[in-house]
Formats: sequence, C-alpha cells, structure tokens
Amino acid sequence: MTVPFLELGVAYRELISEIEPAVLESLRSGWYIGGDDLEKFECAFASFTGAKHCIGVANGLDALRLALLSMGVGSGDEVLVPSNTFIATWLAVSQVGATPVPVEPLESTFNLDPDRLEEAITSHTKAIIPVHLYGQPANLDPILAIARKHGLFVLEDAAQAHGAKYKGRLIGTDGDVVAWSFYPGKNLGALGDAGAITTNDAKIAERIRILGNYGSRTKYVHETLGCNSRLDPVQAVVLSVKLGHLNEWNARRVQIAEKYRRELATLPGLKLPEVPEWAEPVWHLFVVRHAKRDVLQASLKEAGIGTQIHYPIPPHLQKAYLGLGWRKGQLPTAESLAQSVLSLPMGPQMDDASVDAVIAALRRRA
Ligand SMILES: *Cc1c(COP(=O)(O)O)cnc(C)c1O
Repeated sequence: MTVPFLELGVAYRELISEIEPAVLESLRSGWYIGGDDLEKFECAFASFTGAKHCIGVANGLDALRLALLSMGVGSGDEVLVPSNTFIATWLAVSQVGATPVPVEPLESTFNLDPDRLEEAITSHTKAIIPVHLYGQPANLDPILAIARKHGLFVLEDAAQAHGAKYKGRLIGTDGDVVAWSFYPGKNLGALGDAGAITTNDAKIAERIRILGNYGSRTKYVHETLGCNSRLDPVQAVVLSVKLGHLNEWNARRVQIAEKYRRELATLPGLKLPEVPEWAEPVWHLFVVRHAKRDVLQASLKEAGIGTQIHYPIPPHLQKAYLGLGWRKGQLPTAESLAQSVLSLPMGPQMDDASVDAVIAALRRRA
C-alpha cells in the first residue's frame, strides 16, 4: 500500500457538487473584483473566528505585510519572529523595511518560547509575530503580557491554524491583527492563492482595506501608497463552501493525530509533538523528530509512505538572509529542528487503512 504525503484533488472531488455550481454562478455574475461573494466570505470567516472584521487579501504573505504596514512598522524597526518558521513570516518583516529578530522555540511544541522574548527586545522593537506552527497554538497569554508591558504590537501568523483553540478561545482575535493564508494545502485552502486578515480593531481594518486597494477608498482618489492585494471572488466562493466543512475536517485531523500519538508513543528514537493542556491544535502538519531523519525518510519512501520536511533550512541560514549576518550555530534550536523534523501524512481525507500503514511502516523502520 502506498500513502502519499497529501493529495489535494481528493478534497476537491469530495466537494465537487458544491463547489462547481457555486463557482459557475460566480463566473456568470459579471462581477470579478470585490462584490457580494467576497463580502459573504469575509463575514463568514469573521464570524467563524469571532473577529469583528475580516479583510480578504491576495495571499498569506500579503496578509502579514499589510498587517505590519497597518501598525506603522517600517524602516529601522525590529520585529520578533520565531527562528523556525516558514520564510514568509520573516519576508513580510523585510518587505516593510524592518528587521526580523529571531527568537528560539520550545523543541517540544515547535512554538515561540515566551521566556526568550524579553532578552530579544531592544529600543527598536515594534512588534512580535507568534506563529501557530503546524496548527498548534502558540502560548499567547505570556506573549501578549510581554507585548503589553513593552508597548509592542502582536501580529499572529495563523496561516496553519484555522480553527485551532488556545485556552478554549478560537485563534483569530487575540493579537492586534491575525494573518491567514488560504494556500491550497492549508486547513482552509482555496484553489489558488488567497489570504485574509482578522482583527477587532476597526481602524486597522480600514487601513488594511485601503492599503490593499491602491491606497484608495474612493475610486481614483489615493490617500496613501497602497498596492493591489485583493481576494479573488471566485476563490471566496470556494472558501465559503470549504468553510462549511472545516470543523468536520479538523475533527478528522485530530482523530488521526490522536491515533499517531497513541500508537507511536513507545517507539524509541521517535519524538512526538507535545500538546500543552491549554492547546487544541488542528494538526495542519503532524511533525515528529528523529535523530536519523534522512535515513528514516528514505526508508519510509521505500515502503511507499510519503513524508516532507517543514522546513529543511531555517530562515537565518538561507542565502536570502546572509545580509543579516547570522551564522551556523547561533540559533541551535532552529538548526537542530531543521535536521530532525519529519512531517507524516496528514489530512482529513486520509482513511484508516492509510493511517495504519504509516504506523506499521514506522514500527518496522523508526
Ligand atoms: C503558508 C504560510 C504563509 C504564507 O502564505 P501564502 O499564502 O503562501 O503567501 C505564511 N506563514 C506561514 C507560517 C505559512 O505556513
């Protein structure tokens, strides 16, 4: 039996009878930017997260970038970011002219270690970006308390955490701004690029709306140097359909994760993700650690089990970030995670036989 890492076409086919008529109707409406379909999704996603405002944007990177701009983060500022995140978190900071300052995560949860934040704060620090990595919520309360104490903004990168809960509250309203990606592989994914921002702050919401629409609130009147970053109405239609299935899909991910955690717990050499008692993760990825990760990955591949590595090179060691001057050895947690993490097959369409096949292969090879 072969188990692919992820098959997006399966999820599409599951909803084909809902998605295709809705998309056709949208295509025939004659309305291709903004409009009712977009508004409907923005309202639905705001209400899903409990946020007062939701603004659709073109992708997750733009959501982060526009969020930073809306809080006035720019040239000369520093922004605290996890050392082990996807590069988009860092890039958004760089793109507004600020400097990403890495903070190491806890190895057990992969998320920002609040105890290491204060040592990274300087007089230039303007914001903190906790990432809810792999669908597991970051420990928000101490992060928010430190931010309040030092007068910093909090921008949550929730690109992997649609529906996750922290202390019983849904991710989406704790930070000043929360950035979302609907990249096809995310828990809530479009059929192309898409993103959004949620916030309870009306002023920030308005600024983001203007920034992403050529700096304009009235057509051909431009009050600020904006850009074009809008959520496509066709993607909004797809997302509205999929949002209706998100809870049931996340529940299936939780079921699979629980089985992995139960059945793989005793394997020596394999470290499983830990879930703090306040966390309700949505398992965007199920990431294990193994000292001989590359050997294990090759051996699983031979057994027909697809896996991936999120992420093989931490941002500070990327060529793109040579200019910041970070060297190997300076962020040991991020570096050791990059060497040891392995993402197992995970997705709401995975059947029990596939989950069992992954477990059996790991029992033979880990
Ligand atoms: C996917 C992702 C992004 C970027 O989203 P795009 O829609 O691909 O631009 C940002 N941060 C994290 C943590 C992500 O996983």
